[in-house]
This record gives sequence, C-alpha cells and structure tokens, in this order.
Amino acid sequence: MDIIFFVLFAIFGIVFFSLIIFLGLNATKIKGWLGEKTISIRLEKLDISKYVILNDIFIKNEKGTTSQIDHLVVSVYGIFVIETKNYKGWIFGNEKAENWSQIIYKQKNFFRNPVKQNWSHVYALKSLLKDYKDIRYIPVVVFAGSAVLKQIVSNVPVIYDYEIKNFIQEYPVERCISFEDVKQIVSILENANIKDKEIRKKHVNNIHKTVIERQLKMENLICPRCNSELKLRNGRNGKFYGCSNYPRCRFTMSY
Ligand SMILES: [Zn+2]
Repeated sequence: MDIIFFVLFAIFGIVFFSLIIFLGLNATKIKGWLGEKTISIRLEKLDISKYVILNDIFIKNEKGTTSQIDHLVVSVYGIFVIETKNYKGWIFGNEKAENWSQIIYKQKNFFRNPVKQNWSHVYALKSLLKDYKDIRYIPVVVFAGSAVLKQIVSNVPVIYDYEIKNFIQEYPVERCISFEDVKQIVSILENANIKDKEIRKKHVNNIHKTVIERQLKMENLICPRCNSELKLRNGRNGKFYGCSNYPRCRFTMSY
C-alpha cells in the first residue's frame, strides 16, 4: 500500500513540475507573440504605397545558421530591421554589453542584448541581398508592453512601440534605391523566408535551451562564454559585471 502511494505521489510530482515548466516556457512565447502583434498593427498604419511590411521572416545564412527577424519595412529609403521586445519593469542596457537587464518587483533578470541580436539579423540580410550594394540598413529595437527604458546607452535607436510609425516616416535620409528595387528585394525576402514549421521549431528550441543555460550561469555569476567567475567592476557608465578572465574574455553584463 505504501509503495503504491509513493508511486502515485511521485507521478503527481513529475506531472506537476512538467506542467509548471511547460506553462513557464509558453508564457514567454505568448508574451513575444503579443509584442510582435502590437508592432505589426502599428506598422500597418504606414503608407503601403511607400513601405512594404514583412513580418516574422526566417532566413538561413550561408554558414547554415538561422535568423528570425520580427519585422522588416522595405522602402526606397532603406530597410528598417526591427527587433521587438515585450517586457515590463525598468530596462537597463548598453549596446556593447552581452546582456541587458530588467528590474521588476525588486528582482533583476537578464536578457540578450537586443541591439547585438539585431546586428546579427542585419548581417544575415546583407549576405542575402549582397547584389544590392546601395541599400541602407536601419536597425531599430522596439519595446512593447509597459517597459520603462531607464538607462540605455546605444547608437542604434531603442524606442517604444507607439513611436515606431513616426520613427520610420520621419527618418531623415535620402532615397537609396528605386521602388523597382524595393519590389525585387521584397520578392527575394519572401522566397528566402522559411515557412517549414519543423525547421522553425528546431531553431526556437535551440535558442530556448541556450537562453536557459546562459540565464542560469549568469544568475550564478558564471561567465556563459568561458565559465570563469564574473566580478563586479567600476566602469565609466557605472558598475557592471565583467569576466575575471579579462582581457582574454571580454564578456560583460549590466549590474
Ligand atoms: Zn569569460
């Protein structure tokens, strides 16, 4: 009798914890999806005779790595490459750091530097569109949700979701390509876009695994790049964590 009880208890425990992990993982997914929806609704208000909007573009690079780009706005002024984040709380970040931080309910969480993430998308696009040398790429990071951008040090614009439409419309640059080019680029991007759900899933799962691993290491002040200890240091822009293996490893994260 005792054994049956124990087995039932163990099964219950396993089911319970898997459920929590499952819901936890999906909460970030749902949040991400909501953020992307908010931005695409705002982008739809742009003049469609001038701006072509592409949402959720998934492309493979020459090296075989994949990039998932939240939104692209292709125009005669260039390609706006938009990375979306849906967060609450206070956001702190430096474009050079590996990670940015969110402070919410007195708790600090880290997430991958979205500016760096967006640069990797720009490089992927550049290699895909290498025949178009005159294109201007305009990376921008957009925060949806109730996040407050507390201290952001970045040359790449980091803005709120309600600012995105004006940001694009009023971006002060000259034309760099013709509308004929715009149409061709859009069709190249649409053809390169991988819609296969299995390939996409694999990409997302890989990212989840590494994100969770990195998160755990950073929370325990271990460098996710070389596994050395992270130490608190004083920099020009205040305190930050740096790898104790510096200068061999240049990993940093915000304090
Ligand atoms: Zn390191």
